Amino acid sequence: MSPAPHPKSDVWPFIPSPRIIDVVKAEGVWLEMANGTRILDAAGGAIAASIGHGRKEVAAAMAEAVGDTGYIVPTFLTPQRERLVARLKASWLPDHLTRVHLSSGGSEAADAAIRLARMYQIAIGQDTRWKIIGRVPSYHGATALTLAAGGHTARQKGFEPYAPHFPKVPAPYALRSPLGRNHPDEDIRCAKALEDTILSEGPETVAAFLAESITGSSGGAQEPGPRYWPEVQRICQQYGVLLIIDEVMTGFGRTGARFGIEHFDVRPDIMYAGKGLTAGYAPLAGIYASDEVLAPLAERGDSLMFYTYGGHPGACAAADKALEIMEREDLVARAATQGRKLEALLRDRLGQHPHVAEIRGRGLLWGIELVADRETLALYPAEAGITNAVVGQGLARGAFFYPGGTGDIRDIICLGPAFTISDDELEMLVERLAGAIDAAT
Ligand code: PLP
Repeated sequence: MSPAPHPKSDVWPFIPSPRIIDVVKAEGVWLEMANGTRILDAAGGAIAASIGHGRKEVAAAMAEAVGDTGYIVPTFLTPQRERLVARLKASWLPDHLTRVHLSSGGSEAADAAIRLARMYQIAIGQDTRWKIIGRVPSYHGATALTLAAGGHTARQKGFEPYAPHFPKVPAPYALRSPLGRNHPDEDIRCAKALEDTILSEGPETVAAFLAESITGSSGGAQEPGPRYWPEVQRICQQYGVLLIIDEVMTGFGRTGARFGIEHFDVRPDIMYAGKGLTAGYAPLAGIYASDEVLAPLAERGDSLMFYTYGGHPGACAAADKALEIMEREDLVARAATQGRKLEALLRDRLGQHPHVAEIRGRGLLWGIELVADRETLALYPAEAGITNAVVGQGLARGAFFYPGGTGDIRDIICLGPAFTISDDELEMLVERLAGAIDAAT
């Protein structure tokens, strides 16, 4: 018997009610709905399901872990966590990020990374340093602290009283650079804005700078020019500001490299990443830091508070198996290869579309920015709800696209399918996307 439509489905404004019903099964890039229709998951859910849905090996590893140990408080080391951390250090993390702390998701990881930066500054006698400089646009999570550090106006709305007002600098956005469309000095302008902000706030008040290596859904796979990260690194070092890089969406192969930072010349003091860590099979994220950050804390006997479910044995087993599959099937390289094919199809089908301002991305993380006027880059009015309309039209055509942007920055459609997506499925994805954009714009 098929489950009845779920009343909670109505909370998703972009899905035409009452058509929506829950997903009952998923395999590869396909979601099977209770009414028997199939939806091509062009976004891996929330850009998380990177090895494809329905991997029985992962389910078996999780079942074994939970059968063996159930829940174990993170104070104790379990074999599942030990194996995962060993794999992370051997094959995934940058060499200098030797310390691992586990949380249940990206928001918790971002929150912990911010607290770690503050704890470090206190431990080295810099108690006055508490500010976290963030960027606009960005998204780092839904806790009060991470909302405050992020630059996502729509998600911050109403919660401002709970959150301190952290300073913000622009994230490089070449298409709309105030210097001129696609101006080559946009990267330097934005790095300079960071230096100016550190100086105007007072370096002695700034604990860390927090940014995504490549802006995820809030900016639609927006990446900086080549001089940005080396210059940001230099500025952070000069003023004693820690560099925290968010790899929640870009990590674990999504951009065709293990982490987004590998495309640039940069060495974060603290990095955190979730989503692809378990390929979406279980809630888990990690905060990864250098010995230099942890040493002053260790001297004082300080440590980050653990999360009850951080490093849950079932989640660690899921992550260890998902990463093993990625290594065995060479899926990071496949993300790069399939990404190049996706790019070619997108440019061919949508490159000259009158309402497509830009198609941008890397690996299998792509953003398509829609505008009312391609020449002037004029936006559609917010009330037009173009992003949600495209997502709705996509569902009507059997594909799920991820709504990006921040409210102020719109309209952006994000793509992030599983790395296993076939050539035929890529073609289907782009056909359905083009149909949805044509219908909505
Ligand atoms: N950071 C980035 C870049 C993200 O994209 C997200 C979620 O989309 C988060 C942090 C928050 O992660 P979570 O939703 O797992 O709490």
